[in-house]
Amino acid sequence: MCYDVVIVGAGCAGLTAGIYARSKLMKTLVLDSGRVGGQLVSLYPEKGIHNYPGFETIQARKLSDKLYAQAEAAECEIHENEKVREIVNGCEEIIVTTDVAEYHTKSVIVAIGMGSFKPKKMGCPGEDELFEKGVTYILPVKEELVGKKVTMFGGGNSAIDMALIADSVTDTTIIHRRPEFRADESTVNHLMESDIRTIMNANLVSINGTDHVESVTISVDGKEQIIPTDLAVINIGISADLEDLGTWGLELNDDGLVKVDFDMTTNRPGIFACGDVISYPGKVKQITTAMGEATTAVLMAYKFVKKPYWADSCKQ
Ligand SMILES: Cc1cc2nc3c(=O)[nH]c(=O)nc-3n(C[C@H](O)[C@H](O)[C@H](O)COP(=O)(O)OP(=O)(O)OC[C@H]3O[C@@H](n4cnc5c(N)ncnc54)[C@H](O)[C@@H]3O)c2cc1C
Repeated sequence: MCYDVVIVGAGCAGLTAGIYARSKLMKTLVLDSGRVGGQLVSLYPEKGIHNYPGFETIQARKLSDKLYAQAEAAECEIHENEKVREIVNGCEEIIVTTDVAEYHTKSVIVAIGMGSFKPKKMGCPGEDELFEKGVTYILPVKEELVGKKVTMFGGGNSAIDMALIADSVTDTTIIHRRPEFRADESTVNHLMESDIRTIMNANLVSINGTDHVESVTISVDGKEQIIPTDLAVINIGISADLEDLGTWGLELNDDGLVKVDFDMTTNRPGIFACGDVISYPGKVKQITTAMGEATTAVLMAYKFVKKPYWADSCKQ
């Protein structure tokens, strides 16, 4: 069997590509190395998204659930826990190899976002030892927060949004190492209107506890303070792990991301890319931009595969 398109990655870019491809009745397979939903479910499931048109606010995991449901309803074939290892040219088709199987396809859309992303660590004593014993990089569901003392580390939109979520059910402190937050003004205003304690210019010295986190020690202006804590939530960014890209023969920009033309074509005929994995001048890493790029990538894949009479001379 030969697919019309294999989409690598089931984040918001990959799922949008899947939905669009099915609207063109392309035989579509979506592969993800982990769970469907990408960053929305793996990094910030509880966070409200306030800039996705059509919803004043929607929780990240709910948006992901909606995209997943729409892709399934459109009869997209979706495989979780299948990491793509190789994308090579066959005689007349492209062969995509995963840990589990080999798939033949006429086109590929690479939508692997930040790859196998990992949250950045603070690197202080106690962080590794107390991981999952009160140290976390993802805010647990609200029900698990009730009555707990939460200390959040970070100063971006995500850290503040998560602190605001936590504060609705618990006692929350946010600690940032700089004098000002780097989040949007509106988000900082919400923080200032809340009951959350903020401590600026503070460095984390250690996370303390034996079987579970009991406190954190911070240093402000050279003076140490101990803050009683049940849950230390670290939200200082993500490191991307995109080592697979290097083996797929795709031309990369200096930032290590896939170089695409304005129509999401890559240097390899029949392979398109979209979402956080690509870069171009003016690229913005957001859900709506990833979805827009996915739309373009699918329409170009469609032209490449089906060569409809109305298509302009297709570049590849
Ligand atoms: C904390 C945080 C908060 C954010 N908040 C917002 C917000 O409020 N609004 C907004 O618009 N944007 C927000 N963003 C940005 C937004 O989440 C991203 O731009 C978007 O998720 C990118 O989607 P994607 O599909 O390109 O990548 P991802 O969501 O990273 O999905 C890529 C998928 O590919 C899979 N994958 C990776 N490697 C392979 C492989 N080899 N084989 C198969 N599958 C693979 C991964 O498992 C993953 O599921 C936020 C980002 C972060 C980190």
